[in-house]
Amino acid sequence: MDATGWNPDAFAAQLKERLEPLLSGGPRQAHLGKALQTCCEAAESLCHGRIMACGAGCPHCCVLNVAVLLPEAIIIADWLHNALLPAELAVLKKTLALHRCWGRWMDDEERIAKKVTCPFLDLAGSCLIHPVRPLACRGVSSLDRASCREALAPVLTDEPQLVVTDLLRRAAYDESFRALAELLKVYWLDARSIELGSGVLAFLEEPALVDHFLGARRLPDELWRA
Ligand code: SF4
Repeated sequence: MDATGWNPDAFAAQLKERLEPLLSGGPRQAHLGKALQTCCEAAESLCHGRIMACGAGCPHCCVLNVAVLLPEAIIIADWLHNALLPAELAVLKKTLALHRCWGRWMDDEERIAKKVTCPFLDLAGSCLIHPVRPLACRGVSSLDRASCREALAPVLTDEPQLVVTDLLRRAAYDESFRALAELLKVYWLDARSIELGSGVLAFLEEPALVDHFLGARRLPDELWRA
């Protein structure tokens, strides 16, 4: 147990107990959505109501690399299918394909320097997939907008760039991510993480990969290389 009274091991164990019935015995897509909702609820039960400076239209951190588990990519792709018009989806797929060619290979420093933002950031600076955004994004919360703006500005400096963040929120979402990944492994489901845009595009381009995943088959390694 740490200074906040939070015990990561107990948190993970309780969360796994709630996730197990959803993932055991051959999950369906709806179970993946429920599992992610359960992860979010568990993390939010610890940090709901804590102060944060983040809000719609504040896109400073949406320049960093985001890794998702495959169930997250599946649920985001499904959500986009339902939320967007066919023409909007076609435009987004082109954006994601472009991002897959070059943006996904950059590290955070290069993305910041070149202002390569997340392909799901819209022109108003809001997250297009906010209702189903990744666990990694939910875990990032700033306590000071100005420090984000300065730390993530495309300015070359040797000075350490610090952002004041809520460490409990970060730890809770990291632990949720880890617990889900460990359980996927237990049930022989592909537990690898993938870069956000490339993972979502994979399921948009080839919806049959969802059954591949649910059938406990390993997804093609090319998705991590192409
Ligand atoms: S998914 Fe949304 S919150 Fe996460 S980096 Fe992209 S735009 Fe930002």
